[in-house]
Amino acid sequence: MICLGIESTAHTFGASVSELTSEPVSFRIISDCKDVYKAPQGAGIHPREASRHHEETCSGVVENALASAKTGMNEIDFIAYSAGPGLGPCLRVGAVVARSLASYFCKQIVPVNHAIGHIELGKLLLGLDDPLVLLISGGHTVITARSAEGWRIFGETLDLTVGQLLDQLGRHFGMSSPAGPKIEALASQLNGQADVVGMLPYTIKGNDVSYSGLLSSSKDAFSKGISQESVCFSVQEVAFALLTEATERALAFTDKAELLVTGGVAANQRLSGMLKDMCGSRGVKLGVIPRQYSGDCGSQIAAAGFLFYNDGQSVPVNKAFTRQSWRIDRVNLPRSKFG
Ligand code: AMP
Ligand code: MG
Repeated sequence: MICLGIESTAHTFGASVSELTSEPVSFRIISDCKDVYKAPQGAGIHPREASRHHEETCSGVVENALASAKTGMNEIDFIAYSAGPGLGPCLRVGAVVARSLASYFCKQIVPVNHAIGHIELGKLLLGLDDPLVLLISGGHTVITARSAEGWRIFGETLDLTVGQLLDQLGRHFGMSSPAGPKIEALASQLNGQADVVGMLPYTIKGNDVSYSGLLSSSKDAFSKGISQESVCFSVQEVAFALLTEATERALAFTDKAELLVTGGVAANQRLSGMLKDMCGSRGVKLGVIPRQYSGDCGSQIAAAGFLFYNDGQSVPVNKAFTRQSWRIDRVNLPRSKFG
């Protein structure tokens, strides 16, 4: 079964041709193409500018995905698109592309929750069955696992996501977004403990984390003359220690034997090092999504698309919706693993 997955929640317009075979279950990404909107230096994503970028690049990206897969629309069984959560104008471009292709080529269409996409792609690529998930990206900071009723949340951010923390700090330094990789590179130049770590607030309430105070204090430390390298090192230490602590508690509570780390921030080596130590001491299998697929991409939408398509959750073209705010614990779970 072959799916065309379309992603357009924020900065990325992506398209992927992916295949799922059921016996034995095997998932294959045949092509994964994308074009990423670049915000001006020091600025964040402007929803209208990002959607304009998607309008200009969408047909080329879809054509490339089909051409690199050496296939055409006739060979596609169904189309999955990211219906939310995300920026309204950006979501609409992906939905329009999906609806147009579906009605012209008479294909079924499956709306996908973007967060479930990050998770399902990670599970399929890493061969995980029932993991606790740490989803950390520009749009999410959440610890979640599947229960009988749906995706249940065992911890989340109370304000900024960890991606927003890093991107907003980077913008303060005049970097362009996404700033995570630049902050990681600066932090790694510092060997050892920076003395600013202890000055930054470590805020965890129950199993929820808060990053707004950490962001203001990091900016403050920089304005008082602490070097960018020290601030980057320190902010990573505090932000990632918070995530590791909350994740360890959720592992103890749920008794899960696997941890999946997915989303753009999963690419960070310092974070995966902390999680590796924690999982090692608990005997938990750690799966970190490969860097190439950690950020937003069409393959994640195809991966989740298979789950919902096989469960009969395709919709008529005129019912293909977008939803800017769509929490993972509000998603209807498929009745079984592969329908
Ligand atoms: P996504 O929303 O899943 O595309 O993820 C994008 C987010 O991941 C942005 O906030 C980036 O700054 C962040 N990111 C990407 N690479 C890294 C990295 N190596 N370390 C920390 N954050 C990263
Ligand atoms: Mg994402």
